[in-house]
Amino acid sequence: MFAAPAAASEVQTAANGNLAAKLTKLKETFTVCSYCGCGCGILLYSDGERIVFAEGDPDHPINEGTLCPKGNGIIDVYNVVNRKHKRRIINPRRITKPLYRAPGAAQWQEISWDEALARIAKRIKKTRDETFEEKDKNGITVNRTTAIGALGSASLDNEENYLLHKMFRALGIINMEHHARL
Ligand code: SF4
Repeated sequence: MFAAPAAASEVQTAANGNLAAKLTKLKETFTVCSYCGCGCGILLYSDGERIVFAEGDPDHPINEGTLCPKGNGIIDVYNVVNRKHKRRIINPRRITKPLYRAPGAAQWQEISWDEALARIAKRIKKTRDETFEEKDKNGITVNRTTAIGALGSASLDNEENYLLHKMFRALGIINMEHHARL
C-alpha cells in the first residue's frame, strides 16, 4: 500500500537527501536495474503516485550502493527537465496509448488497449499455430516456433522482463534478444 501522496516540497526535501523525510514521506521499493547484465540493486522512492527518485542499494552485494550514470538516471525513463522551472516533470510527449498504422496507410491512429491486445493476441496465435514445431528433423522434442521474435527493452524493469520472458518461453518462442545484455 502506498502512503498518502507527499506534498511537492516534502518530496523535494526527501529527494535532496533528507533522510527523515525520505523514510517517512516516501515508499521505498527494491528492484534490479535492467539496463545491463550487471544487475545492480536499486531503491526506488515513490510518493504514492509516481517514482520521484532512485539510488543504489547499499545492501546489494553487486553494487554496494553505487550506480553508473545509466542506473542513476533510471527515473528519467519517463521524465524530462522543465527548463523554465528547472524541475523534473513527466514527459508530456510520452506515448501512453497504443498507435496503429494500417497496411499501406501513412498515418498512425490511436486505438484502445483492448483493441491493441486483441490484435496482438490474434496474430501471435495465428503465427504460432502455423509454425509450431513439436520435434526437429532428428525427432528430438523442441516445442518451439522460430517465426516469432521478442526484443526486450532497457526501459522495462526487472519484474516486467521476468514476466515477459516467462510468457515467451511458455509460447515456445526461442528468439529473444535485448540490446543491453552482457
Ligand atoms: S546499467 Fe549501470 S547501474 Fe544498471 S546494472 Fe548496469 S552497471 Fe549497474
